[in-house]
Amino acid sequence: MSDHTKLVRAGRGDPSLQGTVNPPVHRASTLLFERAEDLYNDTPKRHYGTQGMVVHDSLREAFCQLEQAKSVVLTHSGLSACTLPLLAICSAGDHLLLSDNIYGPTRKFCDEHLVRFGVETEYFDPRIGSELATQIKDNTKAIFMESPGSLTMELTDIPAIVALAKPKNIWTLVDNTWAAGWFLKPITMGVDFSIQAATKYPCGHADVLMGMIATGSSKASKLLKAYDRASGNFVAPDDAWLVLRGMRTMGTRLEHQQKSTLQIATWLQKRPEVSKVLHPALTSHPDHQIWKRDFTGSSGLFSFVLSPMSEQKVLNFVNAFNLFGIGFSWGGYESLIVHCDPQIERTCGSWQENNPLIRLSIGLEDPDDLIADLQQAFALLSP
Ligand SMILES: *Cc1c(COP(=O)(O)O)cnc(C)c1O
Repeated sequence: MSDHTKLVRAGRGDPSLQGTVNPPVHRASTLLFERAEDLYNDTPKRHYGTQGMVVHDSLREAFCQLEQAKSVVLTHSGLSACTLPLLAICSAGDHLLLSDNIYGPTRKFCDEHLVRFGVETEYFDPRIGSELATQIKDNTKAIFMESPGSLTMELTDIPAIVALAKPKNIWTLVDNTWAAGWFLKPITMGVDFSIQAATKYPCGHADVLMGMIATGSSKASKLLKAYDRASGNFVAPDDAWLVLRGMRTMGTRLEHQQKSTLQIATWLQKRPEVSKVLHPALTSHPDHQIWKRDFTGSSGLFSFVLSPMSEQKVLNFVNAFNLFGIGFSWGGYESLIVHCDPQIERTCGSWQENNPLIRLSIGLEDPDDLIADLQQAFALLSP
């Protein structure tokens, strides 16, 4: 079955639905038992609200099918989906390799907090490929990638890194938020943990924060589930219901956003004010071949580099938009713009760009209207 069909059907058909198309929202902490004998045995499916109700099962099933995973853990934000597996995996004395283009707050968590528990984090050039071998140590526990990085858009050769990690029993993690599990299937490439900020495309409406971690092996699944339970992680049923609703239309949204985004990216390539468009589906992208090999398409998030100009001019440009909102996060039905430079934190020297970087998240507006908005903002830049 195609992913479109899978996402329409996944997680439906529980008898408790009583004929409704969608699962109910059960708000529950206590679950009542018929008999005292059952309180402490494992027979009933659920003992307590933290295990989640039908709506949680349905959402986990939808993500399992999307990511082709063995099991899925839901978390209360995308960031917590990045930190939870690291906490499940790492012990004092471990060494961690993080891609230099990793989501900034994940970086901060490792540098400022994991370090307190005796875990050392080292960064690698996201484009390094199998040369990462030279940075692997005896105590390297995990390699965390993000491809493409959500600001600078470099891709990582995931199969090359998995090939290095597997023989040494090093865990691999991929932040798969950009591809939304739709355009890239890290689990099928041998990755242990595929992570998404479900806040982005699965929710799709800019009104829920959630994360998900998909695991491909029973070893990874067991480790993660044990830590999930021990740490008290939980997702509200209303939020699970909203993200599941978002996922029913995610494929259709993404196909539309893919098309609009490519139209806009191609248009930007011809603008004199733009020095580079960073979109992996464009043949001009330095990692285009990796994208072509590993991905089945592209989502609605990309960046472009402006020609040299003052900081004030960049701010004026961003302020000039009418249809693009100024704001963090992305993947909703509405288009967004941010200037990225204050967010870029790199330590490997793998990002050399000095000129202003702008990121767009393309929503469901008509691309011609978005281009007209860009055009009038560019007009402001002309001397
Ligand atoms: C937004 C984002 C996250 C974090 O998601 P939140 O739900 O905002 O915490 C993690 N990784 C990437 C790549 C993101 O873009």
